[in-house]
Amino acid sequence: MNRFAGKVALVTGSSNGIGRATGILFAQEGAKVTITGRNTQRLEETRQTILKSGIPESHVLAIPADLATEEGQDKLINETVKKFGHLNILVNNAGTAFSDAEGRIGLDQPVSDFDKVMRINLRSVVTLTQKAKDHLIKAKGEVVNVSSIAGGQQAMTGAMYYAMTKSALDQFTRSTAIGLIDHGVRVNSVSPGVVVTGIGEAIGMPEGAFEKMAKLLESHKECLPCGKAAQPIDIANIIAFLADRKLSSYIIGQSIVADGGSSLIMGMNTLDMTSILTS
Ligand code: NDP
Repeated sequence: MNRFAGKVALVTGSSNGIGRATGILFAQEGAKVTITGRNTQRLEETRQTILKSGIPESHVLAIPADLATEEGQDKLINETVKKFGHLNILVNNAGTAFSDAEGRIGLDQPVSDFDKVMRINLRSVVTLTQKAKDHLIKAKGEVVNVSSIAGGQQAMTGAMYYAMTKSALDQFTRSTAIGLIDHGVRVNSVSPGVVVTGIGEAIGMPEGAFEKMAKLLESHKECLPCGKAAQPIDIANIIAFLADRKLSSYIIGQSIVADGGSSLIMGMNTLDMTSILTS
């Protein structure tokens, strides 16, 4: 399928996880892609995977950059447009969380962690989208943000600052969608649940711990009703759907929840009331 032929996509956080799967998918479906991240070795792994699937080198631009800096963001936009001539699709995917070395959570977690996670998960999305705006308007393009079910209505004491960035990102998606649709640009987002990626190690978990956690959740129907954690490609497919105007043109400012049912379960409904009341 070549549904993105002639399109140029910039996918942030494509040196690993969901962004990597998205960059590869876009390239395989005909787009010219800019892939990026700070880790040059992992970025090269993404580039090599794309090239090995038969995509010409001229269709891939790998830019090592720290998205938390304005210089990094300027480099991404300027070099993408310089090489490919325009920009149709911006995927604001890069993100992380910061855990406290002393295990402090909620209000006890140092505000320096709040500043750091806001900077990458939220501020960089705002400023990168500002920098991309004129190019996206010219191309009548699409923005897809990667949020999280952590940003939903439930409390997230264990990762409060992270969850706050995603709640705010959802508001950003809605408001920019209305602001930009007048110019022909669509903005939407996806809110994943548990996805097996590099995020565990990125936030300081020991190697394999995130996968172990995912396996445990898979065995608890009240945590993961569908019985399995997502793989990056599951989310990449939704990002591609939202970036594909032929398929999703009438979706504006929405977030598609992709969590195997996790966010539909209320704690009180997980108790077996029948056996409790009859015992
Ligand atoms: P990964 O850790 O596998 O990938 C994160 C990507 O973001 C990497 O490519 C990393 O690149 C990049 N990144 C992080 N900080 C920076 C920075 N300062 N500058 C440039 N790039 C940066 O995690 P995921 O794939 O899981 O995360 C992708 C998105 O999905 C995030 O927004 C996350 O919040 C969201 N998400 C993930 C879920 C999950 O269960 N995995 C659930 C819900 C949402 P590098 O390290 O090379 O800089």
